[in-house]
Amino acid sequence: AVLARHGADGTRLMQILREIQEETEWLSPDILTRVAEGTRLPRGQVEGVAGFYHFFHTEPLGRYRVLWSDNITDRMAGNADLMARMCKKLWLKPGRVSEDGLVSVDTTSCTGLCDQGPALLVNYRPITRMTAQRVDQIVELIRHKTPLAEWPAEFFKVEDNIRRKDALLGADFAPGDALKALKSPQEVLDSVKESGLRGRGGAGFSTGQKWDFCRAAVGTGPHAAHYVVCNADEGEPGTFKDRVLLASYAGLVFEGMTVSGYVIGARKGIVYLRGEYRYLLEPLNAVLEKRRAAKLLGKSILGRTGFDFDIEVHLGAGAYVCGEETALLESLEGKRGVPRKRPPFPVTAGYLGQPTAVNNVETLASAALIAAKGAAWYKSIGTPKSAGTKILSISGDCERPGIYEYPYGVKVSQVLADCGARDTQACQIAGASGLCVAPNEFGRRIAFEDIPTGGSFMIFDNTRDMFQVARNFAHFFVHESCGFCTPCRVGTTLLANAMDKIDEGHGGEYDINDIWRVIRTLKTASHCGLGQTAGNAVADTLQKFRPSYELRLNVRDFEPAFDLDKALSKMREVTGRDDPGAHFHIAHRKSRAG
Ligand code: SF4
Repeated sequence: AVLARHGADGTRLMQILREIQEETEWLSPDILTRVAEGTRLPRGQVEGVAGFYHFFHTEPLGRYRVLWSDNITDRMAGNADLMARMCKKLWLKPGRVSEDGLVSVDTTSCTGLCDQGPALLVNYRPITRMTAQRVDQIVELIRHKTPLAEWPAEFFKVEDNIRRKDALLGADFAPGDALKALKSPQEVLDSVKESGLRGRGGAGFSTGQKWDFCRAAVGTGPHAAHYVVCNADEGEPGTFKDRVLLASYAGLVFEGMTVSGYVIGARKGIVYLRGEYRYLLEPLNAVLEKRRAAKLLGKSILGRTGFDFDIEVHLGAGAYVCGEETALLESLEGKRGVPRKRPPFPVTAGYLGQPTAVNNVETLASAALIAAKGAAWYKSIGTPKSAGTKILSISGDCERPGIYEYPYGVKVSQVLADCGARDTQACQIAGASGLCVAPNEFGRRIAFEDIPTGGSFMIFDNTRDMFQVARNFAHFFVHESCGFCTPCRVGTTLLANAMDKIDEGHGGEYDINDIWRVIRTLKTASHCGLGQTAGNAVADTLQKFRPSYELRLNVRDFEPAFDLDKALSKMREVTGRDDPGAHFHIAHRKSRAG
């Protein structure tokens, strides 16, 4: 039925696999063969895609698949103990399936719920504010094989936690306001350029310029077309503002996409929604239906002949790298999310090789407001180089985590005061790949000309160990590297291994030098931004929080990371031997002495 619904369309592969998996729990070899036949794709490609994304399973993982969000903020909120409690009660080892095949428990990267963690996903539905009591309740529900639909509704409550509204979140905006105000596409384009709007994903490219390049590009082939893509693959650890925009301001985002389509001459828009936000799919589709009924989408929008535009939502499947726009386009086309070579840029050769404007959720919402209220209004907010506002996702050590919208130019110290942060030791701004800011930098400003950010703002008070923060991020990148290029695939692993080695007390100055070498290679030789920025957190903490490393450097000289005695522990377990002779270093010392 799923195949029939999507037809023999290879670009639908991700959706086909997801929908089938929702029915069958996992993607068996037989299913992959049938999908390959149904889509007329090579079986190797189907298997390759199924194997690439963390949320597709090519082996059974149980009727209940529990994934604990493992961002550093979840760790700070105690996720490790809660997960251990769950595993113990279910007689499970993390990462394994229970003997009866009922349940598996594992970790996953940040789920975008850091303001209400510790959080987890059960069959990709989020449960927030985990406690020991909630763990016990979930264990009982799983043991009794209670269908998810019968679990207490309050488990699945995701709050917006909007703490500060400004020009965007507080805007007086009714559906259709931007579309009713539209003049000619060129005039709207000029207005977006004039407003100074820059991409909110973090890179800060001029939105007007991007639309201009895309509008000027010519589509190719018999299916020549232009496309608008909304990048809602919000995977940067600590970021959750797109979750809130899509949950409560979806109409504004869709209206921004429609404005973009009007300017560049596109008839189709696609929202690429991260797999962790699967629960938003039906609500988003309901908003789209409403807008179609109100003539704000579809054919002849607001009765204007020739103004046709519609939007569909495409769901990702747990791959952080798909936040990179070319990886996202590959994924949209039903392929592995491997970043493309650039040029050509998406504005000339994007989705299906056609001119495509890829914009962040917040950028598109801002564009709708600019179309409705004008460039001058927008430009009057923020700083001369950073017009408008920025929505921050604030989490970690503060009294009031949540969503805060500020005009650009706000100081870090102001943000910390507003959210009730005390004794702050550091802020990690712009996620794991961003900037770690120490107290002497709290006078710096959130703005493209000072600290640019996609929105993640994680706070660490002076009880936190900044080495462990950086170590968590190093492991995050190992998990999320797509594996395409060697510097990143190997470099991220070397970096995480070096951090583990230091953590285990085997590190010395040699390892610190080694870390710098790896960071340099990552930065200069990686194919895409993920690898290039993967060493940022370690580099920043090494420079600004050196004592947290120093206190672990026990070794004057070099010491190998490989611990033979530890490696033999499995064999000791199997043979039931744990006497001194079964330990390498003791036996080794004796033989040398004797
Ligand atoms: Fe993939 Fe990393 Fe290379 Fe980017 S840098 S292409 S994520 S392996």
